[in-house]
Amino acid sequence: MFLDQLSVLVAIGFSCASLGLTFFMMWAIGRSERHLLMWAGGLVLIVVGVVFFGAVVEQYNSGLLLISFLFLIGGFGLLHAGCARFCSGQTSWSSTTISVALSFILTSTAFALGYSGVGTMIGNIAIGVLLVQTGRHYWLARAESPLLMAANALFCVVTAASFIACGYALAEQGQIVLTSRPANWAEEINSIMAIAGLSGMGALSLTLNQMRIANGHKSDAMKDALTGLLNRRALFDGRMGITPPGTAVVMMDLDYFKTINDRFGHDSGDRILMAFADVIHSNIRANDLAARMGGEEFCIIMPDSNPKASAAVADRIRSQIEATIVQTENGPVRATVSAGIAVRSPEPETLQSLLSRADTALYEAKASGRNRVQISSFSLAA
Ligand code: GH3
Ligand code: MG
Ligand code: MG
Repeated sequence: MFLDQLSVLVAIGFSCASLGLTFFMMWAIGRSERHLLMWAGGLVLIVVGVVFFGAVVEQYNSGLLLISFLFLIGGFGLLHAGCARFCSGQTSWSSTTISVALSFILTSTAFALGYSGVGTMIGNIAIGVLLVQTGRHYWLARAESPLLMAANALFCVVTAASFIACGYALAEQGQIVLTSRPANWAEEINSIMAIAGLSGMGALSLTLNQMRIANGHKSDAMKDALTGLLNRRALFDGRMGITPPGTAVVMMDLDYFKTINDRFGHDSGDRILMAFADVIHSNIRANDLAARMGGEEFCIIMPDSNPKASAAVADRIRSQIEATIVQTENGPVRATVSAGIAVRSPEPETLQSLLSRADTALYEAKASGRNRVQISSFSLAA
């Protein structure tokens, strides 16, 4: 053997311990991301398993080898559960418990019957299966970050293959009963893969976790807290140039909203704003954008539209708002809304210009009596 196995085990133990500590500290900061705690717990179990395996390397003992496998299976099971939670938001305790319990029973039974070699094969294969299941979760979640998730899935599968190879090597040698610690080509590859695979997966998972936090902050910064629609900043994000032909902009503003606030209270006003946002949301297509521009003013950007279609949507929203009764603690409240529409002219036009024309149309709708939709005359001519 070209590797001193005890030194390699010490390296595996320390790298898992420091990774586990890192996960634990990251969990301790927010205490909300439970997958970090599960990963930390899984790594602790793996470290204990590695310590027992080290004892077997020092002096062979089938009881200690079994204990080592039970800790390793438990540890990889917990890593799997944490990964399922991280990737899908659900812990799937049942599938993890079934896999781990089955692995415990089969491995322990083989050891109890005196077939320590078979027990070792089963233990290695069980860890391999848990790693493949873990890799499957990363693979299924690859839409979030194709490169990192796929790389993690690959790490899982390659590490799994190295564990399964350990089982295969024993079977190949016909080692039904062990009289010394397992030592063969597969064990050497497995030792290296355990270090490379676990630290690689750890680093990638930390990166993915931080990316997710950063994306969450970005999406919060783009959202209006009250209505959940986009905010003004998000509406302009990446749309400073010329807008594509067929883009329609609808500006909407609640009528006499100050009076509603004064009569029914600010909280009731807020509830109307939320109801207004819901009506907008349920009337737009998936590729339309709706944003709260500030106060009681909302904007919808509709790609591939025209004056008639955008006016129909705006009027549907207007009539639904008019028909909506919002129950507040100060009694039922109804509101109306005025809308101004601008559709991109044949000449190149920026979003800023469209918004400004839609605003002028909105002003006209207000001036001509409110609770109506006004299309920018420019758009009509177009
Ligand atoms: P108009 O028909 O001309 O639009 O009249 P208006 O009263 O709706 O317009 P005005 O601009 O005079 O008043 C807008 C009001 O919107 C004043 C402000 O208190 C209220 N407002 C702005 N933001 C919020 C908010 O987040 N919640 C509530 N409840 N009210 C808000
Ligand atoms: Mg208003
Ligand atoms: Mg206003």
